[in-house]
Amino acid sequence: MQFRKFVSAIFTKIINIVFPPRCPLCTADVSVHGELCADCWTAFNWIEEPKCAICGYPLAYSINIASDTLCATCAAGKNELDLIRSACVYDDASRGAMLPFKHGGKISYSTFMSRAMIWALRDTNIMPDIVMPVPLARRRLFKRGYNQASLLARPIARAYGVKIDYDSVHRKYRPDMGHKNARARAENIRGVFSVARPDKIRGKRILLVDDVMTTGATFHELRRVLMRAGASAVYGVTFCRVARIS
Ligand SMILES: [Zn+2]
Ligand SMILES: [Zn+2]
Repeated sequence: MQFRKFVSAIFTKIINIVFPPRCPLCTADVSVHGELCADCWTAFNWIEEPKCAICGYPLAYSINIASDTLCATCAAGKNELDLIRSACVYDDASRGAMLPFKHGGKISYSTFMSRAMIWALRDTNIMPDIVMPVPLARRRLFKRGYNQASLLARPIARAYGVKIDYDSVHRKYRPDMGHKNARARAENIRGVFSVARPDKIRGKRILLVDDVMTTGATFHELRRVLMRAGASAVYGVTFCRVARIS
C-alpha cells in the first residue's frame, strides 16, 4: 500500500511537470489539476447560509433565521423533492462557465463544477442508492456528443460510492424552452420522461443531477414519473440555479 502511494505520488509529480495544473477558466497556475484560481473562485456567487433547509434556495440575512428555515415555496408545500442543493447562483460568472461547458466542448470544467456540487451536499444526510443525470433526448445527445449532466454525475456517484443510472428513464425530444415562464416550462416538460426500467427504480432513493435549475420544472416532472415507478425518495443537485436573494 505504501509502495502504491509512493508510485502514485511520483506519477502525480511527473504529470504536474509535464502538464502543470492550470485554472480551467483563465489558465493561471494552480496547485491541483481541475481547480479554479482564487480570482476565478471569488467571481462565483457560491450559495452558503442562510438557505432553505429543503431546497437550498439562498435567503436574505436576518437576525431570526434558524437552521430549519424554509423558503416561501417549500413552506407552501409547492416543492415536492425531498431535498435540493445547488453550488452557486446563476449569474454572469456561472453562465460564463456553463455555456462553454454545455455547448462548447469544455468538458474539463466538470471537475471544478462537480467538486462544488459535492461541497454543496456536505451538510445534508441523504443516502442515495442511485445517482441519475437528467436524461437528454437522443436527438440532442447525438448533436452535442455528450450529456453534460452525466459528466457532473460521475464524480458525485463516486463520492457516494453508488452507481450511475443512465438508461432507466428515457426523454422525448421537445424544442428548447428558451426564456418561458414557470407555467409554460412545466407544460412543455410534461410527459417527456418515461421509465423504461421500473425494476431499477422501485424502492430506490435517487439523486438527480443537472447543470442548472431554472424553475425546477424538469426536476418536478422527473420526480413525478420516478415516484409513480415506485422510487422511495428523490433529491436533486445542480451546479447553479436561478435565484433572486430574497
Ligand atoms: Zn482562473
Ligand atoms: Zn425551499
